[in-house]
Amino acid sequence: MFTKTKVAALGAAAVLALSACSSDDGGSSEEASAGDFAEGSTMAELSDAGSITIGTKFDQPLFGLVGPDGAPVGFDVNIGTIIAEELGISADNINWVETVSANREPFIEGGQVDLVVATYTINDERKEKVSFAGPYYNAGQSLMVLADNTDIAGPDDLSGKNVCSVEGSTPAANIADNYPEANLVLFGAYTDCLEPLRNGQVDVVTTDNVILAGYVDDSDGEFAIAGEPFTEEPYGIGLAREDDEFRDWINDVLEEIFEDGRWLDAWNADGSAGTVLPEPEVPTVDRYENS
Ligand code: GLU
Repeated sequence: MFTKTKVAALGAAAVLALSACSSDDGGSSEEASAGDFAEGSTMAELSDAGSITIGTKFDQPLFGLVGPDGAPVGFDVNIGTIIAEELGISADNINWVETVSANREPFIEGGQVDLVVATYTINDERKEKVSFAGPYYNAGQSLMVLADNTDIAGPDDLSGKNVCSVEGSTPAANIADNYPEANLVLFGAYTDCLEPLRNGQVDVVTTDNVILAGYVDDSDGEFAIAGEPFTEEPYGIGLAREDDEFRDWINDVLEEIFEDGRWLDAWNADGSAGTVLPEPEVPTVDRYENS
């Protein structure tokens, strides 16, 4: 909660920011306010409410991981925070909700969240239910094994292997559709696969390379990536399907932050992807038409 005591404690800088926030000067100040956006738009509504609910992962290091203080950190969290800030909503007023892979579309469709920023691949099936701004990053499906495993180097080696992934994810669908000889074991979140990998109940964990990189980094040499990425997983920001105005605006924000360095700063921030992964190429926003 953003209490009065907290405002007082933040001191002069915050007071300046708050007064800029409530000014009605049509955008000459740095802080956005509801008056900056078309009346009735989702941007105006959120800005006016002063808070936003964003779905993200809570168990994926580098992208969305809840720390001891209960607040998630990572690249997805940083991207969501920038979108909120562009609406004039401070980080304190973001309500972070855990979205696992399978509940992202239902949470958007049911209005439990305003946005989802959660290693969320843009694809045609999902576009039937939700809209995507972005991409803001391009990942690819990969494999993670115990570091001493030498018999898995790519998806063609999965025949007869126990392959762990997550319900409602594109990597699980890819294995089910294209590698039917693999024995797919599905859980609700990727961290559910880690203990089974350690104790040999599964041979391999599959999801996006950058999610696996976070687990490898945390594993003290116990886990390793096997082979190269074998799909394209462009990460989008999920929102209500019919809200083209909001989608266009988020795409504008993304193009702006690709340009002005904030996207790269978000990548390189503490606890974020750039602490482990190489600097990515700037993606190209895809302003696709909804069919
Ligand atoms: N990017 C993939 C997906 O959206 C895998 C990662 C995840 O499950 O969040 O399904």
